[in-house]
Amino acid sequence: MKTLQDFNFENKRALIRVDFNVPLNEAFEVTDSTRIQSAKPTIIKVLEDGGSCVLMSHLGRPKGVQEEFSLKHIENAIEDIIGVEVKVASDCVGEDVEALANNLKPGEILLLENLRFHKEETAGDKDFAEKLSRLGDIYVNDAFGTAHRAHASTTVVAEFFPENKCFGSLLAQEIESIDKVMKTGDKPVLAVLGGAKVSSKITIIENILDKVDHLIIGGGMTFTFIKAQGGSIGDSICEDDKMELALDILKQAKEKNVKIHLPVDVLAANAFSNDADTQIMDVTAIPDGWQGLDAGPKSKAIFDEVVNQCKTILWNGPLGVFEMESFANGTIELGNSIAEATKNGAFSLVGGGDSVAAVKQFGFENKVSYVSTGGGAMLESLEGKTLPGIAAIMA
Ligand code: AMP
Repeated sequence: MKTLQDFNFENKRALIRVDFNVPLNEAFEVTDSTRIQSAKPTIIKVLEDGGSCVLMSHLGRPKGVQEEFSLKHIENAIEDIIGVEVKVASDCVGEDVEALANNLKPGEILLLENLRFHKEETAGDKDFAEKLSRLGDIYVNDAFGTAHRAHASTTVVAEFFPENKCFGSLLAQEIESIDKVMKTGDKPVLAVLGGAKVSSKITIIENILDKVDHLIIGGGMTFTFIKAQGGSIGDSICEDDKMELALDILKQAKEKNVKIHLPVDVLAANAFSNDADTQIMDVTAIPDGWQGLDAGPKSKAIFDEVVNQCKTILWNGPLGVFEMESFANGTIELGNSIAEATKNGAFSLVGGGDSVAAVKQFGFENKVSYVSTGGGAMLESLEGKTLPGIAAIMA
Protein backbone atom coordinates (compact mmCIF):
# COMPACT_ATOMS: atom_id res chain seq x y z
CA MET A 1 0.00 0.00 0.00
CA LYS A 2 1.75 3.18 -1.20
CA THR A 3 1.25 6.22 1.00
CA LEU A 4 2.48 9.81 1.03
CA GLN A 5 5.51 8.72 3.04
CA ASP A 6 6.79 6.76 0.01
CA PHE A 7 7.26 9.98 -1.95
CA ASN A 8 9.30 13.15 -1.69
CA PHE A 9 7.28 15.90 -3.35
CA GLU A 10 10.16 18.38 -3.76
CA ASN A 11 9.59 20.29 -7.02
CA LYS A 12 6.70 17.96 -7.86
CA ARG A 13 3.06 18.78 -8.47
CA ALA A 14 0.73 16.54 -6.49
CA LEU A 15 -2.60 16.04 -8.26
CA ILE A 16 -4.78 15.40 -5.21
CA ARG A 17 -8.37 14.09 -5.36
CA VAL A 18 -9.95 15.52 -2.24
CA ASP A 19 -13.54 15.33 -1.04
CA PHE A 20 -14.48 18.99 -0.67
CA ASN A 21 -18.18 18.26 -1.15
CA VAL A 22 -19.00 20.50 1.82
CA PRO A 23 -22.35 22.01 2.82
CA LEU A 24 -22.90 25.68 1.90
CA ASN A 25 -25.50 28.11 3.25
CA GLU A 26 -27.58 30.54 1.16
CA ALA A 27 -24.70 33.03 1.13
CA PHE A 28 -22.46 30.22 -0.24
CA GLU A 29 -20.42 30.02 2.96
CA VAL A 30 -19.08 26.70 4.19
CA THR A 31 -21.17 25.58 7.18
CA ASP A 32 -19.15 22.45 8.06
CA SER A 33 -15.49 22.38 7.07
CA THR A 34 -14.67 18.90 8.47
CA ARG A 35 -13.82 17.58 5.02
CA ILE A 36 -11.37 20.40 4.33
CA GLN A 37 -9.79 19.94 7.78
CA SER A 38 -9.47 16.21 7.05
CA ALA A 39 -7.43 16.85 3.89
CA LYS A 40 -5.04 19.25 5.65
CA PRO A 41 -2.34 16.70 6.68
CA THR A 42 -1.96 15.52 3.07
CA ILE A 43 -1.74 19.04 1.65
CA ILE A 44 0.74 20.15 4.33
CA LYS A 45 3.02 17.12 3.73
CA VAL A 46 3.27 17.98 0.01
CA LEU A 47 3.92 21.68 0.69
CA GLU A 48 6.49 20.97 3.42
CA ASP A 49 8.38 18.64 1.07
CA GLY A 50 8.70 21.60 -1.31
CA GLY A 51 6.00 20.54 -3.74
CA SER A 52 2.82 22.15 -5.01
CA CYS A 53 -0.81 20.95 -4.86
CA VAL A 54 -3.42 20.74 -7.59
CA LEU A 55 -6.67 20.05 -5.72
CA MET A 56 -9.62 18.48 -7.51
CA SER A 57 -13.06 17.73 -6.12
CA HIS A 58 -16.74 17.64 -6.91
CA LEU A 59 -19.34 19.73 -5.12
CA GLY A 60 -22.96 18.64 -5.11
CA ARG A 61 -24.71 17.19 -8.12
CA PRO A 62 -24.66 19.91 -10.80
CA LYS A 63 -26.27 19.43 -14.17
CA GLY A 64 -23.62 20.92 -16.42
CA VAL A 65 -22.03 24.21 -15.32
CA GLN A 66 -24.07 25.74 -12.50
CA GLU A 67 -22.63 28.72 -10.67
CA GLU A 68 -24.05 27.66 -7.29
CA PHE A 69 -21.90 24.53 -7.39
CA SER A 70 -18.66 26.40 -8.19
CA LEU A 71 -15.70 25.46 -6.02
CA LYS A 72 -14.70 29.12 -5.90
CA HIS A 73 -17.18 29.38 -3.00
CA ILE A 74 -14.81 27.38 -0.83
CA GLU A 75 -11.57 29.20 -1.71
CA ASN A 76 -11.63 31.28 1.50
CA ALA A 77 -12.37 28.29 3.71
CA ILE A 78 -9.36 26.43 2.27
CA GLU A 79 -7.11 29.48 2.72
CA ASP A 80 -8.23 29.85 6.35
CA ILE A 81 -7.59 26.19 7.14
CA ILE A 82 -4.34 25.62 5.23
CA GLY A 83 -2.96 29.13 5.71
CA VAL A 84 -1.79 29.44 2.11
CA GLU A 85 -3.23 31.55 -0.72
CA VAL A 86 -5.24 29.43 -3.18
CA LYS A 87 -5.31 30.03 -6.95
CA VAL A 88 -8.66 29.10 -8.48
CA ALA A 89 -8.95 27.71 -12.00
CA SER A 90 -12.03 28.45 -14.10
CA ASP A 91 -12.24 24.81 -15.26
CA CYS A 92 -10.66 21.47 -14.38
CA VAL A 93 -9.24 20.54 -17.79
CA GLY A 94 -7.97 22.40 -20.86
CA GLU A 95 -5.00 24.50 -21.99
CA ASP A 96 -5.57 27.39 -19.58
CA VAL A 97 -5.67 25.07 -16.60
CA GLU A 98 -2.59 23.21 -17.84
CA ALA A 99 -0.73 26.52 -18.09
CA LEU A 100 -1.70 27.37 -14.49
CA ALA A 101 -0.60 23.92 -13.29
CA ASN A 102 2.70 24.12 -15.21
CA ASN A 103 3.52 27.48 -13.65
CA LEU A 104 2.90 26.40 -10.05
CA LYS A 105 5.86 27.05 -7.77
CA PRO A 106 6.77 24.99 -4.70
CA GLY A 107 4.43 25.85 -1.83
CA GLU A 108 1.54 26.93 -4.08
CA ILE A 109 -1.99 25.54 -4.30
CA LEU A 110 -4.24 25.45 -7.36
CA LEU A 111 -7.92 24.56 -6.89
CA LEU A 112 -9.65 23.15 -9.97
CA GLU A 113 -13.28 23.93 -10.80
CA ASN A 114 -15.99 21.36 -10.00
CA LEU A 115 -15.17 18.05 -11.74
CA ARG A 116 -18.86 17.30 -12.19
CA PHE A 117 -19.32 20.32 -14.47
CA HIS A 118 -18.18 17.71 -17.03
CA LYS A 119 -20.38 14.64 -17.43
CA GLU A 120 -17.24 12.69 -18.32
CA GLU A 121 -16.26 12.70 -14.62
CA THR A 122 -19.02 10.41 -13.35
CA ALA A 123 -18.95 8.43 -16.63
CA GLY A 124 -15.33 7.49 -15.82
CA ASP A 125 -14.26 8.77 -19.25
CA LYS A 126 -10.68 7.82 -20.12
CA ASP A 127 -9.89 10.87 -22.32
CA PHE A 128 -11.11 13.19 -19.58
CA ALA A 129 -8.99 11.30 -17.02
CA GLU A 130 -5.97 11.66 -19.31
CA LYS A 131 -6.54 15.43 -19.47
CA LEU A 132 -6.68 15.58 -15.68
CA SER A 133 -3.47 13.55 -15.47
CA ARG A 134 -1.57 16.29 -17.34
CA LEU A 135 -1.99 18.55 -14.31
CA GLY A 136 0.27 16.65 -11.89
CA ASP A 137 3.40 14.52 -11.51
CA ILE A 138 2.13 12.32 -8.68
CA TYR A 139 -1.52 11.31 -8.18
CA VAL A 140 -2.76 11.25 -4.61
CA ASN A 141 -6.22 9.95 -3.73
CA ASP A 142 -7.43 11.34 -0.40
CA ALA A 143 -11.18 11.19 -1.05
CA PHE A 144 -12.67 8.28 0.89
CA GLY A 145 -16.20 9.66 0.41
CA THR A 146 -16.02 8.89 -3.32
CA ALA A 147 -13.70 5.84 -3.23
CA HIS A 148 -16.68 3.57 -4.02
CA ARG A 149 -17.22 5.34 -7.34
CA ALA A 150 -15.32 4.42 -10.51
CA HIS A 151 -15.21 8.04 -11.67
CA ALA A 152 -12.51 9.65 -13.82
CA SER A 153 -10.81 11.52 -10.95
CA THR A 154 -11.21 8.81 -8.31
CA THR A 155 -10.23 5.72 -10.27
CA VAL A 156 -9.51 6.02 -14.01
CA VAL A 157 -6.90 8.78 -13.68
CA ALA A 158 -4.68 6.43 -11.61
CA GLU A 159 -3.92 4.47 -14.81
CA PHE A 160 -1.86 7.40 -16.05
CA PHE A 161 0.42 7.27 -13.00
CA PRO A 162 1.53 3.61 -13.01
CA GLU A 163 4.35 4.22 -10.51
CA ASN A 164 3.58 7.66 -9.14
CA LYS A 165 0.33 7.21 -7.23
CA CYS A 166 -0.51 6.84 -3.56
CA PHE A 167 -3.11 7.20 -0.83
CA GLY A 168 -3.36 10.48 1.03
CA SER A 169 -3.20 10.33 4.81
CA LEU A 170 -6.98 10.49 5.30
CA LEU A 171 -7.67 7.61 2.91
CA ALA A 172 -4.80 5.60 4.42
CA GLN A 173 -6.33 6.09 7.88
CA GLU A 174 -9.76 4.99 6.68
CA ILE A 175 -8.27 1.83 5.15
CA GLU A 176 -6.27 1.02 8.29
CA SER A 177 -9.35 1.52 10.51
CA ILE A 178 -11.51 -0.80 8.42
CA ASP A 179 -8.67 -3.36 8.30
CA LYS A 180 -8.50 -3.31 12.09
CA VAL A 181 -12.14 -4.31 12.35
CA MET A 182 -12.08 -6.78 9.46
CA LYS A 183 -8.63 -8.35 9.82
CA THR A 184 -6.04 -7.16 12.26
CA GLY A 185 -7.77 -5.87 15.40
CA ASP A 186 -7.31 -7.41 18.85
CA LYS A 187 -10.00 -9.88 19.91
CA PRO A 188 -12.74 -9.99 21.03
CA VAL A 189 -14.14 -8.03 18.09
CA LEU A 190 -17.62 -6.49 18.38
CA ALA A 191 -19.91 -4.96 15.78
CA VAL A 192 -22.89 -2.89 16.89
CA LEU A 193 -25.41 -2.58 14.09
CA GLY A 194 -28.45 -0.41 14.59
CA GLY A 195 -30.64 1.72 12.37
CA ALA A 196 -34.02 1.27 10.84
CA LYS A 197 -34.02 -1.70 8.51
CA VAL A 198 -32.57 -5.19 8.22
CA SER A 199 -32.79 -4.93 4.43
CA SER A 200 -30.24 -2.09 4.26
CA LYS A 201 -27.77 -3.88 6.55
CA ILE A 202 -28.13 -7.48 5.46
CA THR A 203 -24.97 -7.68 3.32
CA ILE A 204 -22.98 -6.10 6.14
CA ILE A 205 -24.35 -8.55 8.70
CA GLU A 206 -23.56 -11.54 6.50
CA ASN A 207 -20.02 -10.32 5.77
CA ILE A 208 -19.28 -9.32 9.35
CA LEU A 209 -20.31 -12.68 10.84
CA ASP A 210 -16.98 -14.09 9.65
CA LYS A 211 -15.01 -11.32 11.35
CA VAL A 212 -16.54 -10.69 14.77
CA ASP A 213 -16.97 -12.50 18.08
CA HIS A 214 -19.96 -10.45 19.24
CA LEU A 215 -22.75 -8.72 17.32
CA ILE A 216 -25.16 -6.32 18.97
CA ILE A 217 -28.28 -5.79 16.87
CA GLY A 218 -30.33 -2.78 17.93
CA GLY A 219 -32.63 -0.03 16.67
CA GLY A 220 -35.57 -0.72 14.41
CA MET A 221 -33.92 -3.90 13.06
CA THR A 222 -34.52 -5.57 16.42
CA PHE A 223 -38.20 -6.19 15.81
CA THR A 224 -37.84 -8.26 12.65
CA PHE A 225 -35.63 -10.63 14.68
CA ILE A 226 -37.98 -10.66 17.69
CA LYS A 227 -41.15 -11.27 15.64
CA ALA A 228 -39.38 -13.98 13.61
CA GLN A 229 -38.72 -15.80 16.91
CA GLY A 230 -42.37 -15.55 17.95
CA GLY A 231 -42.32 -12.36 20.06
CA SER A 232 -45.12 -9.78 20.08
CA ILE A 233 -43.81 -6.44 18.83
CA GLY A 234 -47.03 -4.38 18.72
CA ASP A 235 -46.75 -1.58 16.18
CA SER A 236 -42.92 -1.56 16.10
CA ILE A 237 -41.21 -1.23 12.73
CA CYS A 238 -40.80 -4.65 11.10
CA GLU A 239 -39.98 -6.13 7.70
CA ASP A 240 -42.11 -9.25 7.55
CA ASP A 241 -40.46 -10.39 4.34
CA LYS A 242 -37.08 -10.42 6.09
CA MET A 243 -38.10 -12.68 9.00
CA GLU A 244 -36.79 -15.85 7.28
CA LEU A 245 -33.52 -14.05 6.71
CA ALA A 246 -33.36 -13.00 10.36
CA LEU A 247 -33.73 -16.61 11.48
CA ASP A 248 -31.05 -17.64 9.01
CA ILE A 249 -28.69 -14.99 10.40
CA LEU A 250 -29.25 -16.30 13.93
CA LYS A 251 -28.50 -19.84 12.70
CA GLN A 252 -25.37 -18.77 10.82
CA ALA A 253 -24.16 -16.86 13.88
CA LYS A 254 -24.51 -19.98 16.02
CA GLU A 255 -22.57 -22.07 13.49
CA LYS A 256 -19.83 -19.43 13.33
CA ASN A 257 -19.68 -19.08 17.09
CA VAL A 258 -20.70 -15.42 17.00
CA LYS A 259 -22.63 -14.30 20.05
CA ILE A 260 -25.65 -12.18 19.04
CA HIS A 261 -27.06 -9.73 21.55
CA LEU A 262 -30.55 -8.35 20.91
CA PRO A 263 -32.36 -5.91 23.22
CA VAL A 264 -34.36 -7.66 25.96
CA ASP A 265 -36.41 -4.59 26.85
CA VAL A 266 -37.40 -1.37 25.08
CA LEU A 267 -38.70 2.09 25.74
CA ALA A 268 -42.05 1.82 23.97
CA ALA A 269 -44.34 4.69 22.97
CA ASN A 270 -48.02 4.91 22.05
CA ALA A 271 -47.17 7.09 19.01
CA PHE A 272 -44.14 7.92 16.83
CA SER A 273 -43.75 11.25 18.57
CA ASN A 274 -41.41 12.90 21.05
CA ASP A 275 -44.39 13.72 23.28
CA ALA A 276 -45.99 10.26 23.23
CA ASP A 277 -46.69 8.34 26.44
CA THR A 278 -43.84 5.94 27.12
CA GLN A 279 -43.31 2.75 29.06
CA ILE A 280 -40.49 0.24 29.53
CA MET A 281 -41.59 -3.11 28.11
CA ASP A 282 -40.23 -6.59 27.55
CA VAL A 283 -39.15 -6.67 23.88
CA THR A 284 -41.21 -9.83 23.26
CA ALA A 285 -44.42 -8.50 24.85
CA ILE A 286 -45.28 -5.19 23.25
CA PRO A 287 -49.07 -4.79 22.91
CA ASP A 288 -50.83 -3.37 19.85
CA GLY A 289 -50.89 0.42 19.88
CA TRP A 290 -47.31 0.57 21.22
CA GLN A 291 -43.97 0.61 19.42
CA GLY A 292 -40.39 0.18 20.61
CA LEU A 293 -38.41 3.34 19.88
CA ASP A 294 -35.31 2.96 22.08
CA ALA A 295 -33.34 0.40 24.08
CA GLY A 296 -34.56 -0.27 27.62
CA PRO A 297 -32.46 -0.22 30.85
CA LYS A 298 -31.71 -3.97 30.98
CA SER A 299 -30.59 -3.93 27.34
CA LYS A 300 -28.36 -0.93 27.95
CA ALA A 301 -26.70 -2.70 30.88
CA ILE A 302 -26.12 -5.86 28.80
CA PHE A 303 -24.70 -3.85 25.89
CA ASP A 304 -22.42 -1.92 28.26
CA GLU A 305 -21.00 -5.18 29.58
CA VAL A 306 -20.42 -6.59 26.08
CA VAL A 307 -18.80 -3.36 24.83
CA ASN A 308 -16.43 -3.27 27.78
CA GLN A 309 -15.29 -6.87 27.19
CA CYS A 310 -14.24 -6.12 23.62
CA LYS A 311 -10.93 -4.82 22.26
CA THR A 312 -12.08 -3.86 18.76
CA ILE A 313 -15.45 -2.19 18.22
CA LEU A 314 -17.34 -1.16 15.10
CA TRP A 315 -20.47 0.95 15.49
CA ASN A 316 -22.92 1.55 12.66
CA GLY A 317 -26.47 2.74 13.22
CA PRO A 318 -28.32 4.24 16.20
CA LEU A 319 -30.03 2.12 18.89
CA GLY A 320 -33.21 4.18 18.79
CA VAL A 321 -34.93 7.12 17.17
CA PHE A 322 -32.15 9.43 18.41
CA GLU A 323 -33.49 12.41 16.42
CA MET A 324 -36.22 12.67 19.11
CA GLU A 325 -34.88 13.59 22.53
CA SER A 326 -37.17 11.13 24.31
CA PHE A 327 -35.64 8.20 22.40
CA ALA A 328 -31.99 9.26 22.20
CA ASN A 329 -30.80 7.84 25.49
CA GLY A 330 -30.00 4.29 24.29
CA THR A 331 -27.75 5.70 21.57
CA ILE A 332 -26.13 8.14 24.02
CA GLU A 333 -25.45 5.42 26.59
CA LEU A 334 -23.98 3.14 23.94
CA GLY A 335 -21.71 6.05 22.93
CA ASN A 336 -20.69 6.42 26.60
CA SER A 337 -19.89 2.70 26.83
CA ILE A 338 -17.80 2.81 23.65
CA ALA A 339 -16.00 5.96 24.87
CA GLU A 340 -15.21 4.17 28.15
CA ALA A 341 -13.92 1.05 26.37
CA THR A 342 -11.79 3.26 24.10
CA LYS A 343 -10.32 5.01 27.15
CA ASN A 344 -9.40 1.59 28.47
CA GLY A 345 -7.49 0.70 25.31
CA ALA A 346 -10.05 -0.67 22.83
CA PHE A 347 -10.00 0.46 19.19
CA SER A 348 -13.35 1.91 18.12
CA LEU A 349 -14.51 2.83 14.63
CA VAL A 350 -17.77 4.67 13.98
CA GLY A 351 -18.97 4.75 10.41
CA GLY A 352 -21.90 5.10 8.09
CA GLY A 353 -24.46 7.91 7.93
CA ASP A 354 -26.63 8.26 11.01
CA SER A 355 -24.20 6.91 13.60
CA VAL A 356 -21.68 9.56 12.54
CA ALA A 357 -24.40 12.22 12.90
CA ALA A 358 -25.27 10.83 16.36
CA VAL A 359 -21.63 10.73 17.46
CA LYS A 360 -21.16 14.37 16.42
CA GLN A 361 -24.48 15.50 17.90
CA PHE A 362 -23.74 13.96 21.30
CA GLY A 363 -20.06 14.98 21.43
CA PHE A 364 -18.38 11.55 21.19
CA GLU A 365 -16.25 12.51 18.19
CA ASN A 366 -13.02 12.79 20.17
CA LYS A 367 -13.81 9.91 22.51
CA VAL A 368 -13.76 7.14 19.91
CA SER A 369 -10.65 6.04 17.99
CA TYR A 370 -11.86 6.95 14.51
CA VAL A 371 -14.95 8.46 12.89
CA SER A 372 -15.16 7.58 9.21
CA THR A 373 -15.66 10.40 6.70
CA GLY A 374 -17.40 8.21 4.12
CA GLY A 375 -21.04 7.08 4.27
CA GLY A 376 -21.59 4.88 1.22
CA ALA A 377 -17.89 4.04 0.91
CA MET A 378 -17.81 2.85 4.52
CA LEU A 379 -20.93 0.72 4.11
CA GLU A 380 -19.56 -0.89 0.94
CA SER A 381 -16.26 -1.64 2.71
CA LEU A 382 -18.14 -3.31 5.56
CA GLU A 383 -20.04 -5.34 2.98
CA GLY A 384 -16.65 -6.71 1.93
CA LYS A 385 -16.55 -4.98 -1.45
CA THR A 386 -13.26 -3.77 -2.93
CA LEU A 387 -13.69 -0.08 -3.60
CA PRO A 388 -12.59 0.94 -7.13
CA GLY A 389 -10.74 4.03 -5.88
CA ILE A 390 -8.68 1.89 -3.52
CA ALA A 391 -8.09 -0.89 -6.05
CA ALA A 392 -6.80 1.68 -8.58
CA ILE A 393 -4.00 2.75 -6.24
CA MET A 394 -3.14 -0.83 -5.30
CA ALA A 395 -2.93 -1.90 -8.99
P1 AMP B 1 -29.95 3.67 9.22
O1 AMP B 1 -29.84 4.77 8.20
O2 AMP B 1 -30.39 2.37 8.67
O3 AMP B 1 -28.72 3.57 10.09
O4 AMP B 1 -31.17 4.08 10.16
C1 AMP B 1 -31.15 5.19 10.98
C2 AMP B 1 -32.54 5.51 11.41
O5 AMP B 1 -33.06 4.44 12.16
C3 AMP B 1 -32.61 6.72 12.31
O6 AMP B 1 -33.24 7.75 11.60
C4 AMP B 1 -33.46 6.25 13.49
O7 AMP B 1 -34.45 7.18 13.85
C5 AMP B 1 -34.08 4.98 12.98
N1 AMP B 1 -34.43 4.06 14.07
C6 AMP B 1 -33.66 3.58 15.05
N2 AMP B 1 -34.36 2.82 15.91
C7 AMP B 1 -35.64 2.81 15.49
C8 AMP B 1 -36.85 2.22 15.97
N3 AMP B 1 -36.85 1.47 17.06
N4 AMP B 1 -37.98 2.44 15.27
C9 AMP B 1 -37.96 3.20 14.16
N5 AMP B 1 -36.86 3.78 13.65
C10 AMP B 1 -35.72 3.59 14.30
